[in-house]
Amino acid sequence: MTAQIIDGAALARSLRTGFKQRAESLAARGHRPGLAVIIVGENPASKVYVRNKLKACEEAGFHSLLIERPAGISQTDLLTLLAGLNADDAIHGVLVQLPLPAHIDAHRVIEAIDPAKDVDGFHVANAGALMTGLPAFPPCTPAGVMEMLKSAGISPEGRHAVVMGRSNIVGKPMAMLLLQAGATVTICHSKTVDLGAITRQADILVAAVGRTKLVTPNMVKRGACVIDVGMNRDANGKLCGDVDFAGVADVAGWITPVPGGVGPMTIAMLLSNTLKSAESHV
Ligand code: NAP
Repeated sequence: MTAQIIDGAALARSLRTGFKQRAESLAARGHRPGLAVIIVGENPASKVYVRNKLKACEEAGFHSLLIERPAGISQTDLLTLLAGLNADDAIHGVLVQLPLPAHIDAHRVIEAIDPAKDVDGFHVANAGALMTGLPAFPPCTPAGVMEMLKSAGISPEGRHAVVMGRSNIVGKPMAMLLLQAGATVTICHSKTVDLGAITRQADILVAAVGRTKLVTPNMVKRGACVIDVGMNRDANGKLCGDVDFAGVADVAGWITPVPGGVGPMTIAMLLSNTLKSAESHV
């Protein structure tokens, strides 16, 4: 193996120690940071993600509120719930765990979150702010990737960054943050022809597709930094990413593992955004 591992779990732990100190200082002045998480239905993966987010909040000394609603909740009731949280001074961050059941318009729901509490950074006001270079709350997963690059001493400036995936929550904001950091950015997606020809040009390759072992060693330039955002289950039900880790680690210069890579950093960035929101309310 040639690649250095960028340990997201360790980096997240050290960041969270700093967040805890900031939270204590706020709490001492009567402003404990508060995050509300709404989960609708019984999606087991969503339940695990939410549990991990709330656990991290508690460990950092935040106030956290879990709101569970059945899959049959009406959109109107969900919007009413959000209006209450928007008005609640003890809550600085509001998050609705996606996906939502099909009868609910997720876009409508996200737009009902006060942009000043939209710590996921999905509201169009925050997406627009990201476009124009002034993000209040950068989306957590791409922000976590940027922190990982920084920790490894990798500057995107002047590099060719290739982002695989163009979702609103990962691929697009990821491309935007890399662009702002001075990279030349290419975005690939399901219609991209000859994916490997593009990924082989990448100095920084971010895989955010959701397909096990999509990225193979022959798709990676020697010495490149490979960031694996994917969270999939293999045939044995084990958590794995989009990258063939064992093979690609022999070609890449840096690589992130799954688990223990981008996942913990996503949670750390959620705490960071919630803290930022709480600090701005003091
Ligand atoms: P998504 O909304 O399903 O988007 C997947 C993207 O991949 C789409 O843009 C799709 O293209 C593209 N794609 C599909 N097949 C492709 C192919 N063969 N080649 C190139 N691109 C292809 O997923 P997402 O929400 O962005 O999440 C992506 C992955 O990251 C998932 O595994 C998810 O679980 C994981 N994730 C991890 C974290 C974390 O904290 N680690 C956070 C969020 C998401 P089209 O647009 O053309 O359909």
